[in-house]
This record gives sequence, structure tokens and C-alpha cells, in this order.
Amino acid sequence: MTNIIEATHLRKTYGDTVAVADVSLTVQKGEIFGIVGPNGAGKTTAVESIMGLRKPDSGTVSVLGLDPQTQAQELRQRLGIQLQEASLPDYMKVWEALDLFASFYKQTVPWEPLLAQWGLSEKRNTRFKNLSGGQKQRLFIALALLNDPEVIFLDELTTGLDPQTRRATWDVVRAIRDQGKTVILVTHFMDEAEELADRIAVIDQGKVAALDTPRVLIQGLQAGSTVRFTGRNGFDAALLKGVEGVTAVTQQAQQIIVKGDGPLLARVAAALSQHDIVPADLRVEQADLEDVFLALTGREIRS
Ligand code: ADP
Repeated sequence: MTNIIEATHLRKTYGDTVAVADVSLTVQKGEIFGIVGPNGAGKTTAVESIMGLRKPDSGTVSVLGLDPQTQAQELRQRLGIQLQEASLPDYMKVWEALDLFASFYKQTVPWEPLLAQWGLSEKRNTRFKNLSGGQKQRLFIALALLNDPEVIFLDELTTGLDPQTRRATWDVVRAIRDQGKTVILVTHFMDEAEELADRIAVIDQGKVAALDTPRVLIQGLQAGSTVRFTGRNGFDAALLKGVEGVTAVTQQAQQIIVKGDGPLLARVAAALSQHDIVPADLRVEQADLEDVFLALTGREIRS
């Protein structure tokens, strides 16, 4: 594996605010690397320090073998950057934006295939303000890809998009990775990171709380599993308490929630059927990254 990014013990403070306390991470070539955590966790500060847009107080960074502070010019030619809350002047046309951004780079890819790839060919003469939310995002991605970058940074890419556009944007991100590029995806949406990222750094209060593949993070929870079903009126939760592997039974309105270890679904189903109870909606709930975050920090992430 080639490390495209190596960051060691990054720290950045603003007065009394410790934006990044201590962040170390490596990103490998060709992966989608998710950086997740709640708003204010220090994700953007860490990533912008890595890109050379901010100067960390301490720590070392290498991106594509370059030092972002001293070799910024050279590095900028090889990075694609879509910044959080990026915007363009309302009246700027799509082609004018491409023209402007192209002037920043020594080498750019041809626009036409790029516009076609992101479904913007018809929008070439459309003003920025008349693009839909999804089209704006695709334009920002196209602009970030204009210099055929080796690494592309996407920060809160889908914030404010409707669910359908979000999903379409996810496909776009996968397509970028499939072109052999390395993607750094900053998001406070756990489902997005879980869906897209090959590896994830969970950032909390300026530190890396965990770093691994989504699968390992979730498996590492050891939280056991959760079985849910609807209990009919008068259902007696006590009859599940003695069942092997069951550690807790709780009730929320008519929902019965059973937590435990081992083959929980089979054991709960067997115990219920002994009492002639056959709930139609008996199901196992899989842990997700939200649970990982809760387990790591003791707090829920707001998304
Ligand atoms: P995230 O991207 O995870 O939402 P940020 O990196 O934007 O987090 O912010 C981390 C903390 O640093 C927040 O408390 C934020 O208010 C603070 N912060 C970020 N940038 C600045 C800045 N330029 N000046 C002062 N405080 C900042």
C-alpha cells in the first residue's frame, strides 16, 4: 500500500479553542477515506491543515510526498478541493466557472467530457443561481476534477441535498474512486461514511477516536445484537428475561427491545413460540456507525 497522506500529531488552536488536539492518520492510494464526527469536532481544521490551507501549530504532514506548507504551489496542482459551503457568483455561467478555475492550473483536462460525465453538458450556459442543488454540487466536483487531481477532498458534500440527490452524489464519489483517485470525504453523516468509505477516522473533540474499515469498527463494538418486535397488548416482557444470552428487555410503547449476545434472534423466537407468540415483525437490528460513535464517546452524533 502506498501512503498518499501521512499526518502525525497535528494540533491547531484558536486562542483558547483547541480545534485539533492530536490527529495522526495515513491515507492510502485509491481509497475513499472518511473523516467523520459531529460538527465542531475539528474535521475541517484537520483536513485544511493537511491540504496546506491552514498552518497547524505542531505536527507533520506529507501529501503525495510533498510538504503542504513549503510546497503548496506544486501540491495545489495535484489536489482537487471541494470546500464546505463553496459558492460562486450568482450570475456566473457554468463555462465561465470552468474557465476561471482552469486558469489556476498549469494543466487541465478537456471540459466537454468532464461536463458530460457529470451530466452538465446542457447547463454550459446556465447561470450558477439557476442550477439545482444537485447540479451545483456536481459542478463543484467537476471544478475539483479539472486539474485531473490525484487526491480529491470533499467536505460536507451532501449537506442540504434531498435524499435522492444525496444518493446520486454517492455514486459520483464512487466513480471518482473507480478512476483510481484517492478521495478524502469529510462528513458528519454516519450513514454516508458507512456507505462510501473504505476506511474511516472517527474524530471527536479534536482527536482520532477510532480508525478502521466501517465493518471492523462496527464488529468491534461487541455490543451484542438487538432484537425488536411488536408486543401485543398485555405482553409480559418478563418471560424473555430468563432466556439464555438475553441481557436486557425494554419496552417503548408496543415495541419490545431485547438486547443480548449469541444467536439472539433464534433464542427469542424459540422462547416466544413456547408461549404461542409469533410476532410478524421479529427482527435483528444491526449496529451501525452511529452505535460506534455512541460506544466510543458516550454521546450521540446529531445528523
Ligand atoms: P468540524 O469540521 O468538525 O465541524 P471545525 O474544524 O470546523 O470542526 O471546528 C473545530 C473547532 O474549531 C470549533 O470549535 C470551531 O468553532 C473552531 N474553529 C474552527 N476554525 C476556526 C477559526 N478560523 N477561528 C476560530 N475558531 C475556529
